[in-house]
Amino acid sequence: MYLSPEQIQNAINTAYTNHAKETGGANADYIPFLKNVDSNLCGLSVVTVDGQVFSAGDADTPFAIESISKVCTLALAMNDWGQQAIMDKIGVDATGMPFNSVMALELHGDKPMSPLVNAGAISAASLIKADSREHRWSRILQMQSDLTGTDIQISDELNESEQTTNFHNRAIAWLLYAAGYLYCEPDEAVDVYTRQCSTLLTTKALATMGATIAAGGINPITNKDVIKEAYCASILAEMTMEGMYDTAGDWAFTVGLPAKSGVGGGILAVVPGVMAIAGFSPPLDPIGNSVRGQKMVASVAQTLGFNLYQCARKR
Ligand code: GLN
Repeated sequence: MYLSPEQIQNAINTAYTNHAKETGGANADYIPFLKNVDSNLCGLSVVTVDGQVFSAGDADTPFAIESISKVCTLALAMNDWGQQAIMDKIGVDATGMPFNSVMALELHGDKPMSPLVNAGAISAASLIKADSREHRWSRILQMQSDLTGTDIQISDELNESEQTTNFHNRAIAWLLYAAGYLYCEPDEAVDVYTRQCSTLLTTKALATMGATIAAGGINPITNKDVIKEAYCASILAEMTMEGMYDTAGDWAFTVGLPAKSGVGGGILAVVPGVMAIAGFSPPLDPIGNSVRGQKMVASVAQTLGFNLYQCARKR
């Protein structure tokens, strides 16, 4: 199906106009930095697999990547270890529980089950091949830069805000360590995981990251080969399963695209082989997904006719 640039821009404009002023939800408040971000910010971008970029609203405003970083670290862990090791060492199933759930661990012998919840993401960070803490961190940061095609930087202020409040994640790391699902020292794993959540990016950069996966692992803006082609389908399947946490099922049922959200208000959906749609607005629903972001991204997908599960009748 050919889509003209005008069709794509119109779909974005409509989504933004209809939902940018939507009320409801609240900024994440368990990380002090996020509580203070302007709740009115709202941005939307599409990047296609041939490198076209479309945007509306605050698409150049940097925001916290948070959990969306889990996709980058998963991609790096897959490049390092391959598919089977991720299944064995972390697990790739939906937990059906909140992203920081300890009960989800307890139900599965402390196996994290998914690299897209906190436990599995801390485990994935610990799996990255590295000979020191700073080497581990620099490889993860480089992956974020390679996927987004931009020079991604940590926010020292956000990192400080997270490092001084991340006690629940530290407890999770020690549980994983005790059960043999952590592959470096717990303190190093949580430190690096917390840093990976504390980088800033724009919706343009986020959509570029999604378009890189949509394009089979080659960044359409920089042409850099970032993820092995064979792993992109697995990453997208995992996003479908756990990317929107406890409402991943609702999202698949209604929108039908792999997606990943973060408590900074970002959300990324991928149309395999075609494009990625990225939204940002800080107020979250009770699950931790951006209220306006979900509506805008779903609107663009629906207007352009993208749902992986749609079954067109022969006419
Ligand atoms: N840094 C956050 C945490 O560890 C990320 C959570 C999220 O975005 N869902 O809780």
